[in-house]
Parts: sequence; structure tokens; C-alpha cells
Amino acid sequence: MFESLSDRLDSAFKNLKGEGRITDLNIAATVKEIRRALVDADVNYKIAKEFTDTVKDKALGEKVLTAISPSQLMVKIVKDELVHLMGDDAADFNAKGAPAVILIAGLQGSGKTTFSGKLANYLKKQKKLSPLLVAADVYRPAAMEQLRVLGEQIGVEVYLELENKNPVEIAQNAIRDARSKNKNVVIIDTAGRLAIDEAMMTEVANIKNAVNPQEILFVVDSMTGQDAVNTAKAFNDRLDFSGVVLTKLDGDTRGGAALSIKYTVNKPIKFISSGEKLDTLDVFYPERMAQRILG
Ligand code: GDP
Repeated sequence: MFESLSDRLDSAFKNLKGEGRITDLNIAATVKEIRRALVDADVNYKIAKEFTDTVKDKALGEKVLTAISPSQLMVKIVKDELVHLMGDDAADFNAKGAPAVILIAGLQGSGKTTFSGKLANYLKKQKKLSPLLVAADVYRPAAMEQLRVLGEQIGVEVYLELENKNPVEIAQNAIRDARSKNKNVVIIDTAGRLAIDEAMMTEVANIKNAVNPQEILFVVDSMTGQDAVNTAKAFNDRLDFSGVVLTKLDGDTRGGAALSIKYTVNKPIKFISSGEKLDTLDVFYPERMAQRILG
């Protein structure tokens, strides 16, 4: 993950090796290389520029302590700014309610259904909750079947209404069902399309209005770079979601989505998914991610 970005940042810091202190002159090449590395990792130019301007100001403004070299200082400043860019602290996830309702939205293929299964598994095992998964994709029987199979694997009940074509009704009925069975969290997997489309947005917005979710998680494939950020913006404009789930971080992803989404939509990344297995879900910690990027 983010290998190219890590290598490029590392080589940028090497520019400062052997320098006694940071000056306008010796920092210029480093900052330029950092900016290029970010842009090549699919970070939008404006964000990359703002990022490096801040890094430069901070570096020039700090007195170099004798114990810390200019390159070490630069690594520290870049790390702090990466953490800040990704949202500083880990975000809360609200699974409290009677039941708590979690709405899952995103494009088809982003990893929504897989994530719904992983989240149910995580809430069951780590939080000792009793989840109900809801298949609200009424257009693709295969998606319902996929969720049913996932539920079976993790021992979580899946709510299905094979004949009902109204996802709002399915969601409402599922919540009633959950209440009657003392399930304390309901995870609603909604239908996605291959591209942003008005009918899909209206449908998810209707479900949101009908069920009043504690959390609306927007799932996005991290491999899609700047498209991921644009899609996030479109979904957030319509849904005002509460958090982002980045998927496929086990692939050859460049980092742009992880680094730019918080800045662009001002919503935190809450979970990262890195594999097809059901236990490959992690809470997102900006600090850990920055550490991984810097190696
Ligand atoms: P949906 O259409 O949004 O519900 O997407 P799916 O959950 O069906 O996922 C689409 C494809 O991506 C499937 O083949 C999944 O196995 C795969 N997938 C989902 N999440 C991940 C992940 O984190 N890593 C990898 N490598 N594959 C994933």
C-alpha cells in the first residue's frame, strides 16, 4: 500500500541529509518533491500545494534543535501534517440505539456488501452486539444472495424480502423485525450503480429519511483515486453521510483517496477494508496511516 508515495517521500527527505539547518534554499527542492509525490499519488494539486506550503512554513519557523537533523525535522513535520490532513484523531462510531441503524451507501463494486458483512462481524465479535443485516438492493438478486451467504459465514441473521421491490419498506420492516428479536444494530446494505445516478441517490435519500440512521457510511474503492474523492463529494452533497469506508487497501492503491477525502468533504474515514476475508476490517487511525506512509 502506498509504496510509491512512501519511496518518493523518503527520497525527498534525503535531499536534506548532511545539511546543518533548514534554509529557504535547501528546503525548496524537498518541498517540490513532496508536492510532486502527493500529486502522483492522486492527491488533488490544490491540496498538495496547501500541504507543502504549510510544511515549508513550519519547517522555516522552527528552530532546529541540536538533537534533530533537518531531515528528521522534516519527517516529523510531514508526519504531523499527514495526520492532520486525515483528520487527526480516530472518529467515533455510533452503534448505540434500540436498534442503532447503520446505512451503507456507495457505487456498485465499491465493496459495500463485503463491508456490511465485515462490519456485522466486527460489531458481533469486538463489541458484543447482536446485528441484523438487511439486503435492500432490490435490483440484483445476486447481491441479496451474496449478503445471505456472508451472514451465514459469520453467524449473523440476514433480513430478506425477495418479492418486495420497495427498499424503504424493506428497511422499515427490518427495523421492526430487529426490535422484536432484540437485535441492537441494523446494517442496511443499499443498491449501488456503476456511476452516480439520480435514481440511486433519491432511493438512498428516501431510505435515510425513513429510518433516521445513527450512521451513514459511504463506501469507496481506494483504487479509484481522484474519482473516489469526486464520488464522495456527490454522495455527501445528497446524503450528508457521517463517515467514509475505504476499501481495497490491500491492492496497489496510491493513497490519494485516503489523503484527500477528509479535506474535501470534511467527514472522517471511519474504517478501512483490506481484503476479501471477513476479518480484514480496521478502525481508521490517521496516526497509524501516516506512520505506514512514512515507513
Ligand atoms: P458492492 O457491489 O459495493 O456490494 O461490492 P462487493 O462487496 O460485492 O465487492 C466487489 C468486489 O470487490 C468483490 O469481488 C469483493 O470480494 C471485492 N472486495 C471488497 N472489498 C475488498 C477489499 O477490501 N479488498 C479486496 N481485495 N477486494 C475487496
